[in-house]
Amino acid sequence: MADFDLAIIGGGINGAGIARDAAGRGFRVVLIEQNDLASGTSSASSKLIHGGLRYLEHGEFRLVRSALREREVLLRAAPHLIQPLRFVLPINEARRSSMVIRLGLMVYDWIGWRKILPGTRELDLVTDEAGQSLKSRFHHAFEYSDCFADDARLVVLNAVDAAERGAVIRTRTRCVRAERSAEWRLVLNARGHRDVVTARVLVNAAGAWSEVFAETALRIIPQRRLILDKGSHIVVRRLFDHDRAYILQAADQRVVFAIPFERDYTLIGTTDKPFAGDPSVVLPSGEEIDYLCGVVNEYFRTEIGAADVVWAYAGVRSLYDDGAHKAQDIGRDYALILDERFGEAPMLTVYGGKITTHRRLAEDALMQLAHFFTRSRPWTASRPLPGGDFVYDGVDTLVERTQRNWRFLTAEHARRLVRAYGTRVDQVLGEAHSIEDLGTRFGADLTAAEVRYLMAKEWAVTADDVLWRRSKLGLRFTKTEAEALDRFMTGAAPARP
Ligand SMILES: Cc1cc2nc3c(=O)[nH]c(=O)nc-3n(C[C@H](O)[C@H](O)[C@H](O)COP(=O)(O)OP(=O)(O)OC[C@H]3O[C@@H](n4cnc5c(N)ncnc54)[C@H](O)[C@@H]3O)c2cc1C
Repeated sequence: MADFDLAIIGGGINGAGIARDAAGRGFRVVLIEQNDLASGTSSASSKLIHGGLRYLEHGEFRLVRSALREREVLLRAAPHLIQPLRFVLPINEARRSSMVIRLGLMVYDWIGWRKILPGTRELDLVTDEAGQSLKSRFHHAFEYSDCFADDARLVVLNAVDAAERGAVIRTRTRCVRAERSAEWRLVLNARGHRDVVTARVLVNAAGAWSEVFAETALRIIPQRRLILDKGSHIVVRRLFDHDRAYILQAADQRVVFAIPFERDYTLIGTTDKPFAGDPSVVLPSGEEIDYLCGVVNEYFRTEIGAADVVWAYAGVRSLYDDGAHKAQDIGRDYALILDERFGEAPMLTVYGGKITTHRRLAEDALMQLAHFFTRSRPWTASRPLPGGDFVYDGVDTLVERTQRNWRFLTAEHARRLVRAYGTRVDQVLGEAHSIEDLGTRFGADLTAAEVRYLMAKEWAVTADDVLWRRSKLGLRFTKTEAEALDRFMTGAAPARP
């Protein structure tokens, strides 16, 4: 008998989502990720749980509708990681007619299946606070709803849930060879240590790497063409003092988001550039940074330049080639291609997808595999992710409860922990009676207790895992503090087998 029913390559949102769903259905699952969870595209997104207003322009009604419907499903499943966000869209008649936008937003509201999120309204920017940070020539705006998420933690919590339902999660383990017979024989390389696992079904959820995986590990020429497209973001000091985001229409018909980020910052993105090469080595170019600053400077009173950028990141979208020419016109929907041959183990390849649609994608993936796995039913639509077992608008109450139970926490520290761990904040803080009980403080409000929790329960191995994916504390850490954290984690790591 094969070691596993399902082996999934890729610990991004899609691989982790499929692992969670499959493990919850009682299948024996292994998830194999060559680096850290979410180290690929899934930590480099704009972090929006959205339908994608812009995709309406490209006629992607099906994608927009199903993505819009996922917003409230995910908000209820992970109210700590996902929060409603209002977007201010300043009217700029030179870019798009306000009539067209009004119509688009009516459709967005109408197909959006909203129970929690408020609908669209119009703003007078002369009197509304949102107008204060904008140049005086912008008089009117629309305001509509979407959600903002911690993309990397969403991946990690899908993996945590999968593991708690029996899945084996192997990070820093690359699948270097996949041999196909009646079952899959996978050769794995975990930092120089080789081993072999077998599985009945293989899922290639390697995202932008899926063709490289097909060529190198499966040794086949992939049939479908993957279009790779790079998108970059910059982070600057806070540009405005309220909790709404802006969606800005650029001269090239694209849109750029300016989103309140980590209390003191503004996240600005994204670009759209065709990409060729190794998706592991992708950084924002000077040209992209200038482009994003340029769009901001057209709208905001405070002007920014490359010198104001405190952090920047880039990611590679893998888009399923539906025959369109320009990257921004290629569909954002996903495709699942099942390769089954008589007498040979099946393989499912995931193309494209969004953070927003990962749960639906996982359900569809398991539906495609239904005839290999009987007695399998969708279940994820109504179950919370770890720590998400509280009401969608209960963050403030949970922060108050946390501060009552651990009186030594500042309000900001309690809020950060609740946003990251939800009700599992109890597991991070344990029996501590004072901040000293939480051990060494590495920088910002990161303590040894939290780092130990992340190492024990969330596969964190390096300082980068903690500072840039399990949290965004990297924004507040000095290089020396990060190095001290790395040394602590190396010392605290269990010895390798
Ligand atoms: C700039 C940008 C902005 C975006 N904004 C949004 C947004 O706001 N909202 C939204 O919903 N979506 C957004 N997206 C889309 C979304 O981020 C991606 O669709 C999603 O993250 C893809 O996830 P994935 O799991 O397919 O790929 P990835 O996250 O890249 O995961 C694939 C994983 O496979 C691993 N891997 C590869 N080869 C191997 C191997 N041989 N062995 C083991 N592991 C391997 C890689 O290390 C990687 O971690 C955005 C994308 C980009 C690029």
